Amino acid sequence: MHNSNTASIYESLGISKEVYEFGEKILEGLRERFDHIDEIAEYNQLKVIGAMQKARVQEACLMGTTGYGYNDTGRDTLEEVYANIFHTEDALVRPQITCGTHALALALMSNLRPGDELLSPVGKPYDTLEEVIGIRPSKGSLKEYGISYSQVDLLPDGSFDYEGIKNAINDKTRLVTIQRSKGYQTRPTLSVERIGELISFIKSVKSDIICMVDNCYGEFIETIEPSDLGADMVVGSLIKNPGGGLAPIGGYIAGRKDCIENAAYRLTSPGLGKEVGASLGVLPSFYQGLFLAPTVAAGALKGAIFAANIYERFGFDVVPNGSEERYDIIQAVSFGKPEGVIAFCEGIQAAAPVDSFVTPEPWDMPGYDSQVIMAAGAFVSGSSIELSADGPICPPYAVYFQGGLTFPHAKFGILKTVQYMLDKGLVDKAQLVVK
Ligand SMILES: *Cc1c(COP(=O)(O)O)cnc(C)c1O
Repeated sequence: MHNSNTASIYESLGISKEVYEFGEKILEGLRERFDHIDEIAEYNQLKVIGAMQKARVQEACLMGTTGYGYNDTGRDTLEEVYANIFHTEDALVRPQITCGTHALALALMSNLRPGDELLSPVGKPYDTLEEVIGIRPSKGSLKEYGISYSQVDLLPDGSFDYEGIKNAINDKTRLVTIQRSKGYQTRPTLSVERIGELISFIKSVKSDIICMVDNCYGEFIETIEPSDLGADMVVGSLIKNPGGGLAPIGGYIAGRKDCIENAAYRLTSPGLGKEVGASLGVLPSFYQGLFLAPTVAAGALKGAIFAANIYERFGFDVVPNGSEERYDIIQAVSFGKPEGVIAFCEGIQAAAPVDSFVTPEPWDMPGYDSQVIMAAGAFVSGSSIELSADGPICPPYAVYFQGGLTFPHAKFGILKTVQYMLDKGLVDKAQLVVK
């Protein structure tokens, strides 16, 4: 009775019975894995509650300030909560940090000085950082300020090129940037454990190097964070995992006291630092979002695994694959032709709570060589912890999919994509039969 009710509400939302039942079959095989994800979420939920209790979060913390924002207890306490979660000396968590790129740029620009060198030992960093660093010429880049950059790629098998890294470290090397998530590349995402090994190695070569981790999309996926294994700074966006879908803006840097102090003086002004920066009205969403973040991240992770198992079965190339360990929430599926990318994005869009009736189309996005299609029907504009997908219309015609504030929504979105695939003849009915 329960099942047929569920099947019929799916049917009323455009999911045929065969697609629904196919999804149920796939899910049966994932129960054990999902239980493990729930255990991690449980651990992290307690970690967050413990961090809030330790910082003595109280009702007054939810009130914001205006103007200069002196004595903003809620802001200061929230930063203490972040420091407790990441086990760091301090943290900077602000709505004035506009996005993940800004948080990363801030951490870099405030901790590097002219003549210093920045090293990425894990290959090319995230696209937007190319202009921050000056890999692609840009106004205000680190390069313009006389900060040089060197890069050591991962070896073909995805392992660290320890020899190359050792050779790249020199007297000028001041800061190392390590990107945890693969982002929109094909290399594997790094586990916290592997990041810890890399940091130990780097510090054994030169002990005073600042190790910064771009933690975007990785928060709360494991029970430890890179700062537990030696990272001097972890940096991320609040419209991804740690904002829990509720934070409407913001970024964070958690880390060593001197690094955070540098960042604060750069964000506001020398002499002012953390003392100013009104929180306006965002604190309730920052606190509540952080509180929800462990279970939200778990739901998104389940969605990614569900999608991988479905599309792998259909014979498409999925990264990560259906069974491997996961260290971030991003799922890539390569369709080999544009129709697949388009149908997938249409399905995600059609499942959205906001703008479900619009049809995403490929467009010439600034900064890209090829057209890009994007699906998002988010409460927070551009939020990629909410269910979203995008893909460039060029070989290998891969779509990148992430998010879902709840697993039922992620599941619905993925079933929608399957329905679109089926209706457009990109997948055959016979492929929905699971023995
Ligand atoms: C999203 C992301 C960024 C940049 O964050 P924005 O908020 O989009 O500026 C940087 N690094 C990684 C790995 C990301 O996933």
